[in-house]
Amino acid sequence: MFDKVLIANRGEIALRVLRACKELGIATVAVHSTADSEAMHVKLADEAVCIGPPPARDSYLNVSQLLAACEITGADAVHPGYGFLSENARFAEILDDHGIVFIGPKAEHIRIMGDKIAAKQTAKRLGIPVVPGSDGGVSEDGEALRIAREIGFPVIIKAAAGGGGRGMKVALNEDEMSVALSTARSEAKAAFGDDAVYIEKYLQKPRHIEVQVIGDGRGKAVHLGERDCSLQRRHQKVWEEAPSPALNASERERIGSTVAKAMADLGYLGVGTVEFLYEDGEFYFIEMNTRIQVEHPVTEMITDIDLVNEQIRIAGGAELSFTQDDVKLNGHAIECRINAENAATFRPSPGKITQWHVPGGLGVRVDSHAYQGYTIPPYYDSLAGKLIVHGKTRTECLMRLRRALDEFVVDGIETTLPLFRTLVRNPDMQDGRYDIHWLEKQLADGLMDD
Ligand code: ADP
Repeated sequence: MFDKVLIANRGEIALRVLRACKELGIATVAVHSTADSEAMHVKLADEAVCIGPPPARDSYLNVSQLLAACEITGADAVHPGYGFLSENARFAEILDDHGIVFIGPKAEHIRIMGDKIAAKQTAKRLGIPVVPGSDGGVSEDGEALRIAREIGFPVIIKAAAGGGGRGMKVALNEDEMSVALSTARSEAKAAFGDDAVYIEKYLQKPRHIEVQVIGDGRGKAVHLGERDCSLQRRHQKVWEEAPSPALNASERERIGSTVAKAMADLGYLGVGTVEFLYEDGEFYFIEMNTRIQVEHPVTEMITDIDLVNEQIRIAGGAELSFTQDDVKLNGHAIECRINAENAATFRPSPGKITQWHVPGGLGVRVDSHAYQGYTIPPYYDSLAGKLIVHGKTRTECLMRLRRALDEFVVDGIETTLPLFRTLVRNPDMQDGRYDIHWLEKQLADGLMDD
């Protein structure tokens, strides 16, 4: 096991990793930009190193500064958290060249899953169901039209180098094809410097369902059920829950075991998430995230498995501490992302938190780096914390969430708490009847007006 882990991240995930290290008896090194010197993870870590000015490219993404921090402190492993360098295969290789362990998957798997076309081809080869579409990039308009006719309209044209929902265009019929193709290509070129695109069937009312997996890198892999992250705004997840209110036990078992077998065959190491769109009883692979995710706590709450602890142990060469049969899903969990944003306009609201009172009681967890007097800097994402609630049933979970949200007090900045207080009282949400477009439609229809 490691003696000292450097946490190459900030915010709530840096704190989350720090907590896991402390419980494993591992010393911690925090790194921070000059904007984060008052951050909670910096205060709680055994050592802290300032790695640069506020812009992420000069600090949290600055590989040579991170290497220097490892050298100075003698850290033997780096936990990248999510975002920043967490899915950067080159970073994993550079650490390896310096004899430092990257707490994450093998670089080759990060690389494959980071390339949308290679990821889809790999998923297909491993028996994971994918969205019908072109086998690879499509360069000729004629070929694009032929494929679109074959799979049927509507279709979506996506940038091969895509990410963050950019470079995607829907064509509802043949007439829209040539404009959609040329816009997608020029957007892809502008955003990613690569105009390669591919085509998929466009699903009209899917849910976003993702399967959590963990592998030992030596041919064993276990799934921990699914999360439903259909509640989204601009392709950003807002509310996540486990299990999905839309799946039955046999669908859960089918997709879970398919993913676990695929990851075992791949020799996948560490934690990962395979994301699907789900419509009319069918699953369609969209991408795999080769890192810990923001929404991992809902899985922890229903499995009682500490995913970050497992991730660190496995990177240190340990065996998986449990088998598939040991994984028992218990009750229901919901996570709300409390962002420092206006709840109606979603305009960021950085600044000083003058009051911070978090809810408590049975089944209530708050993962946050915020505290009274802390100033949320304007340079990074707006996640101020996550409220995670567990109950024996979805109904109990919703009632508990409602009272926890009512207890939560944050002053000095605006947050998305009012949005969640509205959502938890909404009949569609209470019935679990929502797809990936539901929230945007509701917002357009005035959900948060007045
Ligand atoms: P990115 O990497 O840019 O986030 P993804 O492939 O993960 O791109 O897709 C992002 C989102 O776009 C999905 O969560 C979904 O909302 C939508 N989307 C992607 N592919 C399809 C599809 N074939 N049909 C319908 N919606 C899609």
